[in-house]
Amino acid sequence: MRGTGGIRLASDDCATTVPGLYAAGDAATREPICGGFTGGGSHNAAWAISSGAWAGAGAARHARSLGDRASRRAVTPLGGAGLRPAGRPVDDHRAVVATVQREVLPYDKNYLRHGDALAGALATLDDTWRRVRASLRATGADVVRARQAAAMTAHARWMYTAALARTETRGMAKRLDFPDQDPAQHHRLTTGGLDEIWIRPEATGAAHGVASCSTEAPTASRS
Ligand SMILES: Cc1cc2nc3c(=O)[nH]c(=O)nc-3n(C[C@H](O)[C@H](O)[C@H](O)COP(=O)(O)OP(=O)(O)OC[C@H]3O[C@@H](n4cnc5c(N)ncnc54)[C@H](O)[C@@H]3O)c2cc1C
Repeated sequence: MRGTGGIRLASDDCATTVPGLYAAGDAATREPICGGFTGGGSHNAAWAISSGAWAGAGAARHARSLGDRASRRAVTPLGGAGLRPAGRPVDDHRAVVATVQREVLPYDKNYLRHGDALAGALATLDDTWRRVRASLRATGADVVRARQAAAMTAHARWMYTAALARTETRGMAKRLDFPDQDPAQHHRLTTGGLDEIWIRPEATGAAHGVASCSTEAPTASRS
């Protein structure tokens, strides 16, 4: 996940809203230090090193706090898409990756962004997600590749959902159909969800984001 946004951080030790999961570097949102534009030319590497140190310390503290409870705890495998399909398994991870690449790599879809092109690409990705859910599963070394294909599909849908919601041009988010900055959209957008994608503006005044990240239920959803 290379860019400015990324996994939301819920506290200063880079914890996320998933208990025991810590994020750092390019995987974690860099907005708290560089706002709406990439921090290229030192910020990015500095963020990777700093957040890696904070996340490592946070994760170690968390593991210590569990004591030997961690080894005695019953665990349940998680993860559906690309691992446990709802229907008959089909190993078509290469086709899924190719479809996602067709929707996110072309400049006329993902750089010269326009609402019409974004909506069309998102519809294709939504179909691909349903296919992933229904049937994608691989065996052996390809298990990881199938899971990566599912992750690429999920991420592409979050990306275009957020791009459609930002009806302005600001920082690295550029829209041909909304070339001007809109003072009313001076906020971050957070998005998530799998089968149902949600998106919501972060409360304005949450200047640093990290400490103010919320786990509240989504206020808007898109089917
Ligand atoms: C062309 C380019 C130029 C850049 N220029 C600058 C610059 O001038 N200044 C600056 O500050 N930043 C710059 N950056 C950004 C900076 O390099 C990144 O922000 C930083 O490297 C991110 O570090 P990271 O550890 O989070 O991720 P990465 O460096 O991407 O490390 C992630 C690692 O995880 C590995 N990995 C992935 N999946 C798996 C898996 N399933 N199992 C095991 N391992 C896995 C990858 O192989 C990789 O080694 C640049 C980036 C690029 C691409």
